[in-house]
Amino acid sequence: MSGIFKCALRAAILFWLPHLAWAQEQLRAGVAKTVVTPDVHKNKVYLAGFGHNRIATGVHDNLYARCLALAAGGQILVLCSVDVIGLFYDDVLKIREQMKVQAPEVSHLIVASTHVHEGPDTLGLWGPDPLHTGMDENYLDSLDSQIVSTAVRASHSMQAARLELSRDDHPLLGMLQSVDRPPIVKDPYLFVMRLTSVDAGLPIAVLVNWSGHPETLGGENTEITADYPHWLCQYVENHLGGTAIFFNGSIGKVSTLGNQVALLDRDTGQIAEDHTWRKAELVGTTVGQLVERVLKSSETAAVDSILMRKSTLFAPLENDHFRVAEAAGIFSRRKPLYTDGKVDSSTIPKELTGTGVTRLATGHDLQTEVDYIELRSSERVAAEIVTIPGELYPELTNGGITRYPGADYPDAAFEPILRGHLKSRYQFIFGLGNDELGYLIPKAEWDNQPPWLLGRPQRWYGEINSAGPDVSGVVLRGLVELIEQR
Ligand SMILES: [Zn+2]
Repeated sequence: MSGIFKCALRAAILFWLPHLAWAQEQLRAGVAKTVVTPDVHKNKVYLAGFGHNRIATGVHDNLYARCLALAAGGQILVLCSVDVIGLFYDDVLKIREQMKVQAPEVSHLIVASTHVHEGPDTLGLWGPDPLHTGMDENYLDSLDSQIVSTAVRASHSMQAARLELSRDDHPLLGMLQSVDRPPIVKDPYLFVMRLTSVDAGLPIAVLVNWSGHPETLGGENTEITADYPHWLCQYVENHLGGTAIFFNGSIGKVSTLGNQVALLDRDTGQIAEDHTWRKAELVGTTVGQLVERVLKSSETAAVDSILMRKSTLFAPLENDHFRVAEAAGIFSRRKPLYTDGKVDSSTIPKELTGTGVTRLATGHDLQTEVDYIELRSSERVAAEIVTIPGELYPELTNGGITRYPGADYPDAAFEPILRGHLKSRYQFIFGLGNDELGYLIPKAEWDNQPPWLLGRPQRWYGEINSAGPDVSGVVLRGLVELIEQR
């Protein structure tokens, strides 16, 4: 038995049983959104996602926290999406604590980040230099509170609702995703949920699940924007009504940048270029149009219960950059390390190539969580939601893990493939759900030491922003355990 498997077994599994027949009730839904853009004139705002010391100079469009509350069978589930680069698990735990006080009737709360690369540094990694945080703790505390108040407002506004489900898996959707690290596997599936009020027939919300890094503006831009999710939500709200909520999906190595994503700008007759507002607008608007189109063939689901399961996991950290950052206080104690299930804040001095002697945090694991949700209709699984605490490589979602010469663990076992274990036609995957552990890379493709995969002269991008080669296995085995639990 591998150490990792033992690690997964240490997981504490909590779950709620599906409702009993007597508790049956009609689906209700409520929604709320709040502007969470930081004030760039009051404080220095370090922008996340590219290099260090990129300071916001203005606001192009607002960042939002958006929450959808769903109730059925005596359970209330709240799904929140926030336009930031990521939120650590400890923030989500704090948000849930506040929720318990303000809305104790809520059964479960999920908080995912859209991963915008043109918003405030909520992880601390993009400050003035590698040893100083870019995180503004006051902003982050107020963001946590704003997420809570948005979730509470959503749950307090619930009304009887009709649910429609849609899925678009046309092969051409892959043309909106760029992948340049082998294997070239994408996740070109668009999943949509629409909630409409039963009484008035008015739109409540449209939830969109699509995969792609919101990084179209690139590292030179200094104006805050939600990138393509801004135009996506705007299109959906203008054309379909209600509140749009976007959840990013399996976004490991999936980008809007590069000429694989070639969208015609009708104003110029040219393909819109990277790092332009126009390309971000075209990506968002195009996905919005696809949402509108696919809803024309939606399926109505009479959801009468919600099954919710979650598992707390410990994943081994094997990235010295993160250990240095932890010891330097970059994460502002919002991402503690654990050893044997207990917080471990110890550090040691260590000689590192190029940086001399520096301090390294020595705790063994990161604590995180995976969730599995079923929206059920007369015992049938109508739709599923899973949370991924990071950026999942699409071959872990759809299959296609490949052994290449140069891999560090050429004989590593393949992790379970997520969609192979899901049961319904509507498989919502919420990337950066409740945590951000960076890239989740198949162990067989892990390549942190030369020779590089396929004889490339330089390293592939990926491992530097991953917690380690065993994290994807811990996460996926944890999820499969939840999915298959009886
Ligand atoms: Zn990313």
